[in-house]
Amino acid sequence: MSNSNVKSSRHARPIDDLTGVKVGEEFERFEQKFDIYCRAMWDPEIKSEKSDKFFEGYYMPYARARKTDGFSQKDYAFRNAAWHVNNVIRDIEKSGEFRKEKPDEIRKEGFWDYYTSHDQGWPEPYPYESPAEATRDLRKVAGFCGVGDLGVCEYDERWMYKSIFSMQGNGQKPQEIPDDIPNVIVTLEPMDRDLIRTVPSALSGAATGLGYTFDGVAIITLAQYIRNMGYRAYATLNDTALCIPLALQAGLGEVGRHGMLINEKYGPRFRIGKIFTDMPLEINTPKKFGVEEFCTICDRCAKACPPKAIPFDAPSDHVHSESNIKGVVKWTPSAEKCFKFWCNQNTDCIICIRSCPYNRDFTKLVHRMWLKLAKGPFKKLALKLDDWFMDRGRLKTSHWWRPELKNNEPDENPIKKSK
Ligand code: SF4
Ligand code: SF4
Repeated sequence: MSNSNVKSSRHARPIDDLTGVKVGEEFERFEQKFDIYCRAMWDPEIKSEKSDKFFEGYYMPYARARKTDGFSQKDYAFRNAAWHVNNVIRDIEKSGEFRKEKPDEIRKEGFWDYYTSHDQGWPEPYPYESPAEATRDLRKVAGFCGVGDLGVCEYDERWMYKSIFSMQGNGQKPQEIPDDIPNVIVTLEPMDRDLIRTVPSALSGAATGLGYTFDGVAIITLAQYIRNMGYRAYATLNDTALCIPLALQAGLGEVGRHGMLINEKYGPRFRIGKIFTDMPLEINTPKKFGVEEFCTICDRCAKACPPKAIPFDAPSDHVHSESNIKGVVKWTPSAEKCFKFWCNQNTDCIICIRSCPYNRDFTKLVHRMWLKLAKGPFKKLALKLDDWFMDRGRLKTSHWWRPELKNNEPDENPIKKSK
């Protein structure tokens, strides 16, 4: 896709100049039913006995615990427990107005549908003196709810799913968020770095599960707070809209080669939540800190990815299948290769997060100094420093459970070992 094609595209917006997102003439809004996890429900190309077992494995009687390090009963027990509260919220039987309107609807909230677990709020909007006052209070409440970082952007229809996946009817239903909602609050919920170091393992999935669980609790609480102040609020996780373009527009980071957001506080280590609201709020500005330039000299995630799902070449509008959005220039991993690997190892994978040089503890001065180096002309040196000094190898799960057993021997990769 040429630059002139992007500039003249009827889908391009001024905000794209700030995010660096290139939206071409071929752009089409994404239909949620083509999300790879939705396809695993209905598309024979993706749905298989293995993929069914992969999902079932998140419930203990079906977990395929084995002797391999990282896949023991203990590891699955913690991973599945980490998802438990999220699953309860996801599947909770709703009461109140929503259920009265749609008594028979099958929902999977946070993944297919927005959350409806809310009490009635205040009937009139609170008369804030300014958006600054509302934003200051929101940030204060968000901090107490455990939100790691938060940004606000304007509603952008391009990133709303064109239709919502459903297990009923013809498999699709219309978008449910009213299109007069002006603002989107985007939240980041950090994931534990040590758990991620154990990937590939079932145990590392506990980082993801807890990320979703805490994110779900935080955004439902925040949405209820907004409703209690008299405004509309719809809390969403992976459902309803594409998270990453909204997070970019909310100033929360940049996209890396692995297709995930990289944030200045948490690197690539978090889950994203979104709240659609008409609360008057200050809008953030997209922020760049050199990630795209750094990724052009780095390929650690692409090299580390076992099924080679991450591209080595430059960003493009190439799509692997209908699971990728059309007409957007970016690094696009193959959702099929990635998900197949997950099913084969019977747990989710975040090796690309573990291996990313931005996966650091930025509360430490030394890592903040590294970030400065990575932003500027010495990024090649920053990459070398990462290779020389950061241990990006796998942490044995037995050493996670009992750190006193850890020695300095290089760890074994159970995936390679089993080949
Ligand atoms: S999650 Fe694993 S399989 Fe998927 S892209 Fe990342 S490294 Fe590759
Ligand atoms: S591993 Fe390297 S190329 Fe991949 S996202 Fe991280 S910095 Fe970019």
